[in-house]
Amino acid sequence: MYGERHALATVTPFRRSRERGRILCYHSVGQPEFGVNDVEPARFRRQIELALEQGYRFVAPAEIARTGGGPMDLAVSFDDALTSVLTQADPILREHSIPYSVFVVSEWSEQKLDWQKTAVLGWRELERMAADGVELGSHSATHRDFGEIDVERAKEEFELSRTTIEQRLGFAPEAFAIPFGQSQNWNEAADQAARAVGYSTIYAQAEETRPPGTIPRTFVTHFDDDRIFKAMLRGAYDRWEEWTWTY
Ligand SMILES: [Zn+2]
Repeated sequence: MYGERHALATVTPFRRSRERGRILCYHSVGQPEFGVNDVEPARFRRQIELALEQGYRFVAPAEIARTGGGPMDLAVSFDDALTSVLTQADPILREHSIPYSVFVVSEWSEQKLDWQKTAVLGWRELERMAADGVELGSHSATHRDFGEIDVERAKEEFELSRTTIEQRLGFAPEAFAIPFGQSQNWNEAADQAARAVGYSTIYAQAEETRPPGTIPRTFVTHFDDDRIFKAMLRGAYDRWEEWTWTY
């Protein structure tokens, strides 16, 4: 993946016509078991500082979702609600007063399985983060691929996640981030069911290859060094369909 992204940084002409802000999609920050999804803490800090040096302004993801934002607006979001978001990323973002969103897989945050007890944020931590101003949304109940399940099963995922978050945290989320987040991981029936359940803002994990009607986000990978990250901010990967050739 590194080779491919590096090549694209070189050959893809930067498009200067972009008029809207960009929402970055991270996962873990210092949990190497998450492979391509993990960005090392030092690199995460470097990316934030690099963006600031380049003149970008960080705003809340919901602001870009709502208004589109301006060309120099950036936002930070995290899928899966992994522990390193709080232990590693939060202090760095707080230092720079950068707002961010976290999308919770509600059954993972129940921490019923051993790996979830150490790798995933539990409700007590999430409650504290919400109180500190972090926007929390749903990332489904069990992280299914919505391109592969029928609409009844999809509906169960949407409802269970929303009611669990409401029971645990006291509010029903209106934002939903699609697991895996590419066009093949979503469909029209799932989209309608999600909106009927109450998710009014639906985030993808892709820019130009996202499902119709969803809010674009740019996937930041383990391999994104300074050069790749800068190219990414200028749109070098906006047509890139990440999951077609990873897992
Ligand atoms: Zn996810």
